[in-house]
Amino acid sequence: MQNAIDHGGGAMPTDATHAGAGSLLLDLVNSRLEFDDHVDDELAADAEAAAWLVAHGGTGDGDEIADARAARPLLARFLRGQAPIEELEPWTGAITRRPAFGPDGARWREDLAPGRRIGARAMLEWADLQGPEGSRIRPCAASDCQHFFIDTSRANTRRWHSMETCGNRAKARRHSARAKLG
Ligand SMILES: [Zn+2]
Repeated sequence: MQNAIDHGGGAMPTDATHAGAGSLLLDLVNSRLEFDDHVDDELAADAEAAAWLVAHGGTGDGDEIADARAARPLLARFLRGQAPIEELEPWTGAITRRPAFGPDGARWREDLAPGRRIGARAMLEWADLQGPEGSRIRPCAASDCQHFFIDTSRANTRRWHSMETCGNRAKARRHSARAKLG
């Protein structure tokens, strides 16, 4: 079964700051964190993965679980600049755009190939997050942090996934470096 996304009057949404933009992509690349002694993976168990996918607008079936697990590491590498976009071809190539003609002209629908729906939706979200200020979805600038974030600031200059944790740690490091110099 094809899963169609109706983008209405033809234009893809271009306002990257609209509510909910990128939530599947962002949550997907943030769903696995590696620690010294364990891994936190929200998609590790099938039942948990199915519930996660339903919460993100999917069906939670086995195809989606497999697709989410397959797309996630490539998406994370791509967002870190460690993989070219060509590596995402299984998902970008799974998207076709089809016009439905009517009295108002053409309405465009995106058909996502079965088995690639989750990664394809993530790539459509990624496309919505690109703009004149660059990509609004980025890895946190802290070298020891694995989180990604979506920057909704006008200038798109945010560096940390969380000011409370990574931002404050960076500030503390700068202070102690200055204290040593002084
Ligand atoms: Zn961080």
